[in-house]
Amino acid sequence: MGQAKRRREAGDRISHCRTCTYCCSLPRIEALDKPAYRPCTHIAGGGCSIFGQPERPAACLAYACAYLTARMTEAPERNRIPHPLDCGAYFHRDPVEKVIFLFVDPARPLYWKTSALLVDFLKMQVGAGFALFVTDRGREMLIRDVATLSEVLARDMVAIADRDGRPLDVPSFREAKAAPFA
Ligand code: SF4
Ligand code: SF4
Repeated sequence: MGQAKRRREAGDRISHCRTCTYCCSLPRIEALDKPAYRPCTHIAGGGCSIFGQPERPAACLAYACAYLTARMTEAPERNRIPHPLDCGAYFHRDPVEKVIFLFVDPARPLYWKTSALLVDFLKMQVGAGFALFVTDRGREMLIRDVATLSEVLARDMVAIADRDGRPLDVPSFREAKAAPFA
């Protein structure tokens, strides 16, 4: 939903999304019948091929990840949130339910843990009472405290679950592996 639409919307302004297409690729988008881990078929030529057309879902129009939101609103925290391409993950916040939804790039799944900027920000938010819902390689984790977050950062829980043969939470990840995520 990001760079695909932002370029058109931004006109001559610099696109904050750069070449990122995470939010058009990683999540399930019900209105488009798009499974998780499949790039939206409307991504074309660095833009959204159905931009401005009625079939483009309202969810696409409304969506901005936390990085983009902070940039567009010039929020004080804008320099504390790394660009998704610079940390291998993107997230948005639900301020009402106090949940952060983080999606990890399956092509480099451990990279987000190496981003001091992202880790510090997430710890600060979890410490302030936000729950963190992580979607990583077809698995979902709900983290409610900093101690659990530290454990997740220190250990590859997805690899452990895979080794134990536990079923995926997001089964479409299996098909995406057959046809590599791009
Ligand atoms: S229709 Fe597809 S390409 Fe266009 S903004 Fe939505 S998810 Fe992105
Ligand atoms: S995840 Fe954020 S930076 Fe990436 S395309 Fe979406 S809105 Fe833009």
